[in-house]
Amino acid sequence: MTRDTMEYDVVIVGAGPSGLATAIRLKQLAAERQGEISVCVIEKGSEVGAHILSGAVIEPRALDELIPDWRERGAPLVTPAQEDRFLFLTEKRAFRLPTPPQMHNHGNYIISLGNLCRWLAREAEGLGVEIYPGFAAAEVLYDGDGRVLGVATGAMGIGKDGKHSENYQPGVELRGKETLFAEGCRGSLTKEINERFGLRKSSDPQSYGIGVKELWEVPADQHHPGLVVHTVGWPMDRRTYGGSFLYHLENRQVAVGFVVGLDYENPFLSPFEELQRFKTHPVIRPTFEGGRRIAYGARALNEGGFQSVPALSFPGGMVIGCAAGFLNVPKIKGTHTAMKSGMVAAEIAFRRLHGDASADYRAAIEASWIWDELYRVRNVRPGFRWGLFPGLAYAALDTYVLRGRAPWTFRNTADHLHLKKASECKPIAYPKPDGKVSFDRLSSVFISNTNHEENQPAHLRLRDPQKAIAVNYALYDSPEQRYCPAGVYEIVKEGSEGAPRLQINAQNCVHCKTCDIKDPTQNINWVVPEGGGGPNYPNM
Ligand SMILES: Cc1cc2nc3c(=O)[nH]c(=O)nc-3n(C[C@H](O)[C@H](O)[C@H](O)COP(=O)(O)OP(=O)(O)OC[C@H]3O[C@@H](n4cnc5c(N)ncnc54)[C@H](O)[C@@H]3O)c2cc1C
Ligand code: SF4
Repeated sequence: MTRDTMEYDVVIVGAGPSGLATAIRLKQLAAERQGEISVCVIEKGSEVGAHILSGAVIEPRALDELIPDWRERGAPLVTPAQEDRFLFLTEKRAFRLPTPPQMHNHGNYIISLGNLCRWLAREAEGLGVEIYPGFAAAEVLYDGDGRVLGVATGAMGIGKDGKHSENYQPGVELRGKETLFAEGCRGSLTKEINERFGLRKSSDPQSYGIGVKELWEVPADQHHPGLVVHTVGWPMDRRTYGGSFLYHLENRQVAVGFVVGLDYENPFLSPFEELQRFKTHPVIRPTFEGGRRIAYGARALNEGGFQSVPALSFPGGMVIGCAAGFLNVPKIKGTHTAMKSGMVAAEIAFRRLHGDASADYRAAIEASWIWDELYRVRNVRPGFRWGLFPGLAYAALDTYVLRGRAPWTFRNTADHLHLKKASECKPIAYPKPDGKVSFDRLSSVFISNTNHEENQPAHLRLRDPQKAIAVNYALYDSPEQRYCPAGVYEIVKEGSEGAPRLQINAQNCVHCKTCDIKDPTQNINWVVPEGGGGPNYPNM
């Protein structure tokens, strides 16, 4: 069976805030010129928003520029941020610290990013954008000169054994004069594009964190709409970068999450367990006691910032949003920069489509407010490599005295290189879940509504299967058992004396991409499963 081909002016991979902002801006530009432009967006989630997980406190700067009348048009930004609290936790106590200027949220909104994307998708469709959820871009298409021609969606109905089942349907080729990759943090095709075109040759390696998040409905007396709380300190040790967020939204909902820098050293660390343990802190626990957990999920986020932004263009297209790494770490915000980068890319693509070969995306990004914003905070996150207190002290110096204009730039290194051998580290004893405020992994994955067609080739591929035991198990006590927030990786033994073997429960994967990032020898390759597979987040 041959693949069908669909032709567009612009093909966008990923219906997150960056991809949708791009699509809207392209249509606006065409309307301003009274012209036509065909734009298609494909999304691997079963619907727009199904794979979106964020905090989220959003800075509306880019949205204001894109759709100035978003309030009148009913955008789901209904809870203004009212109060910021920044706490340092010890095991039993909490101390209020001054809120760093980047974390002041006056003028921002506490939202569900999934719901914002659903709204943006409706706006885009209203302008004539074609959006295809449930289709994963599995392959980049190149012409004979190596120029990107578009992408192909994955075939459906290939069995575990690699053979076609009776439901087999070949993928579809989506060809665009410009192809924009908006896959978010650690995009699987973006990885290929980076390598093929050497986009990372002149930048630092990207570095990452993993955010594990839950959404709760809390008792009315614990709910303070507009309250934004961040914590550092316990339960992290002082060397490991990490902290929590608690955002009080509308409808008695509280988003709680824990972010751990993936440059952590101890292979016994479990980001999932850190979130569970965090909720049991005497100052935090009352928020959740008597409440109900509604949703669970996890997602990696970029932490490399300015010095890790790669080259952004290649023949036939551009990389936008968190796929390129525009997140502002001290703010813990990437939505506004992701959207803005998409809007800038739309303007460049539009000019190129109208024959302006000199239109330069990188130069336009450097001239936009994204660049100045990222430049000023570029040294804050790397300063935490010396530990929490030196990191806080350096951040204060950099922000208040140097004002982001230090004559030096700290370098980033790849996260997987930081993992130490199990023999050099102490196991961490995590408390058992109490079933009230803390839970186990499987019951958590259950409420992420994750689903994958079982009879399909594994989308978590080991480049060398031998390494799972010979390296990961033998040297690192298989850290994937703990960093995976969905319990996908399990070491099983046939009987107590049996040889260990790695079992991969791929159907549980919530597409956070942590294994692709943190595996010590980069042996795990995350590729897209059949379209529509993965979590089905209601409003994360
Ligand atoms: C825990 C956490 C907390 C955060 N808190 C905040 C916050 O409070 N404020 C803030 O502004 N930012 C926050 N961020 C960052 C913010 O979520 C991101 O900056 C933003 O989502 C980036 O948008 P994006 O469009 O680039 O990527 P994403 O939002 O990741 O969207 C990418 C989309 O592309 C789809 N996709 C990926 N690959 C493919 C493929 N091959 N084929 C088809 N579809 C594909 C995905 O399913 C997804 O829908 C947080 C992030 C995390 C993880
Ligand atoms: S298998 Fe990998 S991508 Fe999937 S949930 Fe686990 S760590 Fe995340």
